[in-house]
Amino acid sequence: MSLSPSPASSPSSARVAAAVRHAVAAGLLGEAGPVAGFVDTDGVRGSVAALHEAFAEAPGVLHTFAAKAASLVPVLRLLADRGMGCEVASPGELRIALEAGFAPAKIVLDSPVKTRDEIRRALALGVALNADSLDEVRRIASLRPSDAASVIGLRVNPQVGGGAIDATSTAAATSKPGVALRDPGARDRVVESFAAHPWLTRLHTHTGAQGCSLELIAAGVGETYLLAEEINTRLGRRQVTGLGIGGGLPAGSAGETAGPPFAGYVAALRRAVPGLLDGRYELVTGFGRSLMAQHGFIGALVESTKDAGGRRIALTHAGAQTATRTVFMPETRPLRVGAFDAEGLPKAGPALVQDIAGPCCFAGDVVAHARELPELRAGDFVVLYDTGAYCFSTPWAYNSLPRPAVYGFRAVTGAGPDGPAVRFAPVRDAQSLDSIAAESGLAHADALLELDA
Ligand SMILES: *Cc1c(COP(=O)(O)O)cnc(C)c1O
Repeated sequence: MSLSPSPASSPSSARVAAAVRHAVAAGLLGEAGPVAGFVDTDGVRGSVAALHEAFAEAPGVLHTFAAKAASLVPVLRLLADRGMGCEVASPGELRIALEAGFAPAKIVLDSPVKTRDEIRRALALGVALNADSLDEVRRIASLRPSDAASVIGLRVNPQVGGGAIDATSTAAATSKPGVALRDPGARDRVVESFAAHPWLTRLHTHTGAQGCSLELIAAGVGETYLLAEEINTRLGRRQVTGLGIGGGLPAGSAGETAGPPFAGYVAALRRAVPGLLDGRYELVTGFGRSLMAQHGFIGALVESTKDAGGRRIALTHAGAQTATRTVFMPETRPLRVGAFDAEGLPKAGPALVQDIAGPCCFAGDVVAHARELPELRAGDFVVLYDTGAYCFSTPWAYNSLPRPAVYGFRAVTGAGPDGPAVRFAPVRDAQSLDSIAAESGLAHADALLELDA
């Protein structure tokens, strides 16, 4: 894995460089906005097109985007506009998916924990849902009106094994999601459940995330396909008509030359699961990271630098509040970092080993350890590449730090002498201090004093 500080001059790195320069010139990045997220809309469109193309031969595929990977209404609307559906896992994600304009029939509710009200609402809307357990199948059965339009499935855990990263592996023997298929008696209980509930027509699996090989993911899909065949054979009818095959493809850490992994994944599926793509089953995919990560970056002002124990540290405004997983899992979620000067131009100069630290008040708030970069100084900017998924879109409220602003951008072709012009659009406003106070219980400021009175 290369973490080279100066990315190759791919079209997307040229667009990022242009965006940084124009964002600094426009004041979107600087004193007034010391950290912000940026989404490359042409890049997103390109990934969606690559996904559709990779599956072009398979009839009847619904590609859903896992909302948690970029839970921002304008981003979801862009994806809806490109023909995607949406995978949601909470009432909040369902709400923003509906606000983004996804038709209920193209939304799949997959949360591991659902209240009765959430299930009722999904059924009333006609949103598809996957039960996480046989217990939940019984709960859905008790709430389901006989004319419900929702497609209903069962999530299974094929237990094909975990990937390299425990916290995001979902198909190890003891993983939380879905019915564990290799446990004694589990297959029979699943078949009995399908026999008892003819409206149960889908199986769903999501074998993993970053850290699982394409072969492992394909093996999990293969197990699920075989179970569908077994259910239909044992019931003597084609009851299972759809397979949710999840997402989990790696992206981002391989650098920009890697490109979207979808064609390679489809090839792995073809090898591992002949018959999967022949149209007998409606397929539902659920990609997040691999669609979005490479098409977003975080820009942050360097506020100061210092030396500590012989190590140079650049103190920036990007830390655990916006790159949470990288800070807490630095080995498994390393980020490429770029150094830019006060005008937003890529910095040159000899490499110096530096830590890139964030604004949170704990010592471990470091987004890159011992990274070789041109020497950073106060007033410069750092760019955290490949942060379009699970980073600025899912901020952490530690230290009452505000959610950073997010902008979409487009490099306009017909470049002038200084490279392409860049247009920006607001995606999410930076959180205000009023909003922070309100979300910190301001409306109840006296409540504890009154309790004691
Ligand atoms: C998170 C998740 C996805 C997307 O995972 P990525 O690694 O972002 O592709 C898909 N399906 C389910 C059920 C998920 O929980």
